[in-house]
Amino acid sequence: KGSLVCVGTGIQLAGQITLIGKSYIEEADTVFGVLPDPVAESWISELNSNFVSLQNLYSEERSRKETYKDMVSTIVREVKSGKKVVGAFYGHPGVFAWAPHEAIRQLRALGYDAFMEPGISAEDCLFADLGIDPGASGCQGYETTQFLFYKHTLDLYSYVILWQIGLAGEWTLQSFSTSRSNLEKTVSYLSRWYPLSHEVIIYEAPFLPTHEARIERFPLSSLPDKELNMSSTMVIPPLHKLELDEEGLKHFGLTVESYK
Ligand code: SAM
Repeated sequence: KGSLVCVGTGIQLAGQITLIGKSYIEEADTVFGVLPDPVAESWISELNSNFVSLQNLYSEERSRKETYKDMVSTIVREVKSGKKVVGAFYGHPGVFAWAPHEAIRQLRALGYDAFMEPGISAEDCLFADLGIDPGASGCQGYETTQFLFYKHTLDLYSYVILWQIGLAGEWTLQSFSTSRSNLEKTVSYLSRWYPLSHEVIIYEAPFLPTHEARIERFPLSSLPDKELNMSSTMVIPPLHKLELDEEGLKHFGLTVESYK
């Protein structure tokens, strides 16, 4: 009977895959991959010659929603034909990635064995390279366009991570970049909460061990001048230092004075 495991390959080539993820790839009948570059693809195809890239499903001619649906139907079809299938997705396969979750959901509903193994996501690399501990004051993460278009409550005491900043406001789901005007609108939206002088960071983890991370700090107002791409992530450090909440403390029989 066919089965599916979705594994993460990490961000940096070869070294960030988990041992279990690698062994699933080596043992699979078919490995479908969504990987950031051709070098990563050829590395996976050395682990298993039955590697098929799904990267070619992306196209400027159609919505990314259609591409993701095609990824799911390609994977589901192969499992139904009796194969032991692995979906190899860069980073963590379940982080800002619809297709792996959906393929698992559909296959489980059909009675197949389907599950996910975690991987090292871009956010994990970000915490390491920027020296941020998400537990220190909290951390919120959003897909940038969702954040701009939907109601969310921002926590100005915590870090805010905006994923897909390089697609800010790109609602057609067809283009692979944003525009200066979209970035200006993003700045103006964020200026509801943050002063234009507030420092933000653009982070890009390297895909190859020979490359260095991009860590660029600048005032929020300069965002529209920056070159962004599909692997850019924006970090907004907290605006305020943590403050004790009298109401919360009261529930525990404490006061600000007694807790300090
Ligand atoms: N599943 C991936 C993961 O676990 O990291 C995330 C996929 S999501 C569709 C793509 C977004 O992840 C990018 O727009 C960016 O925000 C972030 N990302 C991907 N590669 C990155 C990198 N090398 N450095 C920093 N952020 C990255």
